[in-house]
Amino acid sequence: MGRPVIAVHGGAGAWRGLDFDYKLVYDAIEESIVRGLEASRTGNCIDMIVESIAYLEDSGLFNAGVGSTLDYIGNVLMDAGLMTSYGKAAGVASVSYPRNPIRLARLILEKTPHVIISGPWADDIARRFSLEKHPGPSIRAQAMWRDLKSGKIESPWVKARIESAKTLGYDTVGAVALDSSGCLAAGASTGGVALKLPGRVGDSPIPGAGFYADSNIAVSATGIGETIILSMTSLRVANLYATLGMLDNTLRIIVEEHTRRWGPGTLGLIALSFKGEISGYYNTEAMPWGYARLGEEIRILGLNV
Ligand code: ASP
Repeated sequence: MGRPVIAVHGGAGAWRGLDFDYKLVYDAIEESIVRGLEASRTGNCIDMIVESIAYLEDSGLFNAGVGSTLDYIGNVLMDAGLMTSYGKAAGVASVSYPRNPIRLARLILEKTPHVIISGPWADDIARRFSLEKHPGPSIRAQAMWRDLKSGKIESPWVKARIESAKTLGYDTVGAVALDSSGCLAAGASTGGVALKLPGRVGDSPIPGAGFYADSNIAVSATGIGETIILSMTSLRVANLYATLGMLDNTLRIIVEEHTRRWGPGTLGLIALSFKGEISGYYNTEAMPWGYARLGEEIRILGLNV
C-alpha cells in the first residue's frame, strides 16, 4: 500500500494577461490537489481525478466547466474524459448541460458500456442522473468572446486559441493520480478552443489523445487539440515510457518531437508513474501545475511570473 499522489494542471498557454490574479490560479491548483488527496482517504483513483478536476471546473478561473470559453456562435460546449489503469475509459464531447463534465464522464464510465457519448444525448444522461446544471456562459467568457469576434482574427479556431492564450490566459484542466492500491488514473476537462466551430471535438474526451492510463503511467495533455489527436500524444508518452523507463526524459522527448512537428505553443503534459514519479513539461510560455503526496507539502510550478 503506497502513499496516494496527485498532480493537476491548469492548461498550457501564455498565461500572460490583463485581467487575472496569478495568486488565484496558484490557490485554485493547490486546493484542487487538496481535494484530490482528501478523496483518496475514502475513495479510489477515480474519486481523486473527479474531485480535483471538479474543483477546477467550479472555480470559473479555467477554461473548463463554469469558466468555459465560447464557440463561434457564443455557446458553451465542453469536452471531458478519464481513464484508469484497470483499462476503463470514458469521455463526453460537446456537452452543455452539466456544470461538471468530468462527473458526467464518470457516469458514462460506470453506468454505460460505451466509451464516448456526445452532444444532447450525453446532456440527457446528465439530466437523468440529476447532475448539477451549468450556469451558462460566464461574464468573463462572454467578454473574451466579444473581444475575439470584434478583433482582427481571420481564420477562427487555431489562431483564436493562440490569441486568447496570449491575452487572457486561462485554459483547460487535467489531473493524474495514483491511489494507495496502486490504481493510476488520468483525466481532462475543457471548454475547447475559443471560437471553435460548434460541434468541434478536441483531445480532452479522447483516450490516448488528451489522457491515458495503464499499469505503468497516467498522462494528461493540454494544448491545441487537433495536434494532440493527430499525434495520439498521451498514448505515445505511455509507449515511450514503457521502453525508456525515465519519466522526465520521456515527457521532454515527446514535447520536443511535438514542437518539431507542430511548432511551439502547442502542448503541455503532466504524468505520474506507478513508482510515484511525477513530471510536467510544455512548449508554451507557461503551464500552471502542481503535485503532492498525501501528508507531504504541495508544490506549484509553471507560472513564470
Ligand atoms: N486541448 C484543449 C482542446 O483543444 C484545449 C487546451 O488544452 O487548452 O480542446
